[in-house]
Amino acid sequence: MSDPAFEAAYRAAQESLSQGGIPIGAALARGGEVIAVGHNERVQQGDPIAHGEMSALRAAGRQRSYRDTTLYTTLAPCAMCTGTIIQFKIPRVVVGEARTFAGEFELLRSRGVEVVVLDDERCVEMMHTFQRENAELWAEDIAE
Ligand SMILES: [Zn+2]
Repeated sequence: MSDPAFEAAYRAAQESLSQGGIPIGAALARGGEVIAVGHNERVQQGDPIAHGEMSALRAAGRQRSYRDTTLYTTLAPCAMCTGTIIQFKIPRVVVGEARTFAGEFELLRSRGVEVVVLDDERCVEMMHTFQRENAELWAEDIAE
């Protein structure tokens, strides 16, 4: 079993899928302890901004600083989430996979964010299946 914080993000993605939502989960951790977990809520809440990362950050509430935190996400962060990571000065992002969506690694790294890609087979399979079966909803989420 991998990092417990990553497992929490993965479970959140599965929970979203079970609710008919987009299976992307995230978790914010500090010192190995999970502060908050969230998942994409575009479908559940009708909220286009509620990507997994945004939901986890919202659930974490106000934080004095993010400089000692790590954000875990099952899928490579999009431009919106990348902007938030940079804005909040989160120094490290652990990503489940970037095969089904490339995200904005170059931008993150250019701003000094450490990006770790796990290339987790479960995440790849989850997104492959979802994207195949829900092409229109997936296109909506990434504004394609
Ligand atoms: Zn996003």
